[in-house]
Amino acid sequence: MTATTNEKSQSQQWHNLSVQEVSKHLDSDLERGLTSGEVTKRQERFGANELKGKAGKSPVVRFLLQFNQPLLYILLIAGAVKAFLGEWVNAWVIWGVTLINAIIGYVQESKAESAIAALASSVQTDATILRNGQKVKVPSTELVPGDLVILTSGDKVPADLRLIKARNLQINESALTGESIAVEKDTKTIDRNAALAERTNMVYAGSFVTFGQGKGVVVAIGESTETGRISQLMEQKTSLSTPLTRKFDKFSRILLYVILGVAALTFAVGLGYGNTWVKMFEAAVALAVSAIPEGLPAVVTITLAIGVSRMARRHAIVRKLPAVETLGGATVICSDKTGTLTENQMTVQAIYAGGENYTVTGTGYAPDGEILLDNQPVDLTNSPVLLQCLISGLLCNDSHLEFKDQRWQVIGDPTEGGLIAVGNKMGLTQADLEKEMPRIDVIPFESEFQYMATLHEGGIGDWGLGTGEQGNSSNDKSRIIYVKGSVEALISRSQNMLDSQGNLIPLDSEIVHREVDAMAQQGLRVLAFAMKEVSANQESVDHKDIAEDLVLTGLQGMIDPPRQEAIKAVQACQNAGIEVKMITGDHAVTAKAIASRMGLSKHREVLAFTGQQIAQMDRQELSTAVEDGSVFARVAPEQKLRLVEALQSKGEIVAMTGDGVNDAPALKQADIGIAMGQAGTEVAKEAADMILTDDNFASIEAAVEEGRTVYRNLQKAIAFILPVNGGESMTILISVLLARALPILSLQVLWLNMVNSIAMTVPLAFEPKTERVMQRPPRNPNESLLNRQLLQRIIVISVFNWILIFGVFEWIQGTSGNIALARTMAIQALVAGRLFYLLSISQWASAIAKKLRGRVAQINDAPAIGIGIVCTIILQIIFSQWSLMNRLFYTAPLNLNQWLICLLIGVAMIPVAAFVNRFDPLN
Ligand code: ADP
Ligand code: MG
Repeated sequence: MTATTNEKSQSQQWHNLSVQEVSKHLDSDLERGLTSGEVTKRQERFGANELKGKAGKSPVVRFLLQFNQPLLYILLIAGAVKAFLGEWVNAWVIWGVTLINAIIGYVQESKAESAIAALASSVQTDATILRNGQKVKVPSTELVPGDLVILTSGDKVPADLRLIKARNLQINESALTGESIAVEKDTKTIDRNAALAERTNMVYAGSFVTFGQGKGVVVAIGESTETGRISQLMEQKTSLSTPLTRKFDKFSRILLYVILGVAALTFAVGLGYGNTWVKMFEAAVALAVSAIPEGLPAVVTITLAIGVSRMARRHAIVRKLPAVETLGGATVICSDKTGTLTENQMTVQAIYAGGENYTVTGTGYAPDGEILLDNQPVDLTNSPVLLQCLISGLLCNDSHLEFKDQRWQVIGDPTEGGLIAVGNKMGLTQADLEKEMPRIDVIPFESEFQYMATLHEGGIGDWGLGTGEQGNSSNDKSRIIYVKGSVEALISRSQNMLDSQGNLIPLDSEIVHREVDAMAQQGLRVLAFAMKEVSANQESVDHKDIAEDLVLTGLQGMIDPPRQEAIKAVQACQNAGIEVKMITGDHAVTAKAIASRMGLSKHREVLAFTGQQIAQMDRQELSTAVEDGSVFARVAPEQKLRLVEALQSKGEIVAMTGDGVNDAPALKQADIGIAMGQAGTEVAKEAADMILTDDNFASIEAAVEEGRTVYRNLQKAIAFILPVNGGESMTILISVLLARALPILSLQVLWLNMVNSIAMTVPLAFEPKTERVMQRPPRNPNESLLNRQLLQRIIVISVFNWILIFGVFEWIQGTSGNIALARTMAIQALVAGRLFYLLSISQWASAIAKKLRGRVAQINDAPAIGIGIVCTIILQIIFSQWSLMNRLFYTAPLNLNQWLICLLIGVAMIPVAAFVNRFDPLN
């Protein structure tokens, strides 16, 4: 007790210490961070920064929960009654089968759970920190006390931090305090008695930065963090329940009552006919057992788990299991443009500066290429405005280029990488410029504002610009703000621009817009650049500092080609009846050009709306616009939510991508929220149902395909399992009503429904996708899994199964008088028919059939179906040929002739299956 109190009081004082004291206490340099050597030492001492997931339910409890199913209650009771009647063998077989069933269920469930949990944790959180004076990104598990963490909006706070710098910093601490409104943070020292929620100079692990920036020292990691203390918050929960599994649960509960009712009726009717009550108890149990699809829950779980891992292989990590189902039903996909539909490989191709139009040669981020004016290489000394435009691109920039793996790569934002590359082509480097004009402050880029600004030492005069009167009289103005951003954002803040000599002239927005349109029409992403001189004592830059009076220096247009695979994926979606809409912060003309190049609007011309237009629409207008439009440009993140809601009000099932902090509400509202794994913020990932590890639109299409396959395979499993239950229960019910001997005993039903069903149905979960899966329209979201066609199919096959069991039993019993043989042959004939039925709905057989007919078809080399069939045959041979099984299950061995008869009767299933496949094609 004392130990915890001590620990607690110690942790409580961080907010009560000054920044200097904290730094001294943790032996941390507040400018340069820790050294690598120190980090290694501390990692050894403090361990990894992670929370050990609280152990969930113990394996024993989880195993026992397997028995918590209506069917199993019936079985356990049936076993008990049999034991009470002295039929011990019978009782033990029932209990044994139940036990095996529970073991299989337990193993499958644990496997599925751990697979899903592993996927979820494979998405690692990174933290930006300062070490050795360098800004680096490391997995947050590697943090140690004393590390300097840099926070920007969208980040997840990686450890408990004492803030040493905060700018408009707002933190959502709801996970810790329950307060959903973000709190403003600062660095002021606070009274030691302040409650957790009042410690405004501290930020705690697990909360999110919703706005602004900050810097803090790590004071606690892992289990010592405040979140680590409240361990119940961290209970790792992997739920296997989805709307579908819940529906199944409900269905099976209802089924249970129906079955109990019918079983009781059977019992009563049988007694009325003068049967012994022992015999009628057997019939009632057989009926109950026969009617419940025991194998189904296992197959549903496995099918979902396989879907999840298949999606992961195709770069889509499912965070919430229900998304697997929902994905298959998506009718609209709203996708980001930059990086998702396009390559995000920015190359500046056109520059407009000082009234001149320049072109740029070269591709990628390599410094190879030049800037041309009228096809002649330019000399920067004669082009002062171009020089300014390039410099602002290099300085107002948070990224850098690196030569790695034999090519130039961007570390950071590709848009910024493009700006660095074009500067490098002219011999300008960030390192040189930053030495000459050190950065004093920055407003980082945020989609919401559409610009970024930096404050630098050194005035315009240094660069040989005659900026008119303002420039000449500005001896005291020796600092400069560079701004880059969207054309709209910068034009509205600019008053002047520069002529070819660098003289100030009034801004002519008409000319600028004309130039922007010319670039955008070619699909170029256009960025505008501006600057502003400020006085030497300006220490920071804030949004209001650049609200007006900027000088526009130019425009740079960069190409960002569509991803080839995304073009194909868009087409695949359209064939599948799914509409793809582009939602972007980029310029409408650029977005439209890219959209029509990608064939986003199949037949008509691409219709684009801007955020501004959307803002003025009422509900009615918006819902028409969302249906007709395929491009929504200059959309503010907040507007995404409106778009999703409008689409949903039209009955659409919406998948929506997002990466920023402000995308979270839209991601939550969408039926499937999709976050970007690479470019996405932690906030977006947390809100999403699915994460794309490669940020690629094609992966969404792949996930939809897998989602549809999952749904199909579930339907196949149902189509396969239920008719056997149907056939068995009809047999028992009718035989009792006709006062005939039971053609099938409860133990035998148990064998069929558990052992045989699992061997035959689990393979259906592994069925590959069909060729036509993306050629059908999305399923009707209101339609139940058990649709009309499926129901008809189940009834037809059930009746066939009944005829088969009842017929074979009556025939063999009548001719041979051997009731055990009659029962065994009825069962073997049923299984034979089942084999043919399985082949008829599996992909594998239909592919082979196609091949035989000389058509092109893909045949899987190791089909699970094949394995299932071999297992089934072996099990059935054991079932009737092994004397032990004969005693346990009251079966009789068959001779070769009898086997052949069973097989031949099974063949009758082929035309029946062909008939049902015609009106309910499952492939
Ligand atoms: P997108 O939907 O294309 O990802 P963003 O929200 O990233 O759109 O960007 C919207 C606009 O903001 C861009 O068209 C561009 O004008 C501007 N912009 C994008 N990135 C930056 C940046 N790093 N710095 C300044 N402005 C930017
Ligand atoms: Mg972007």
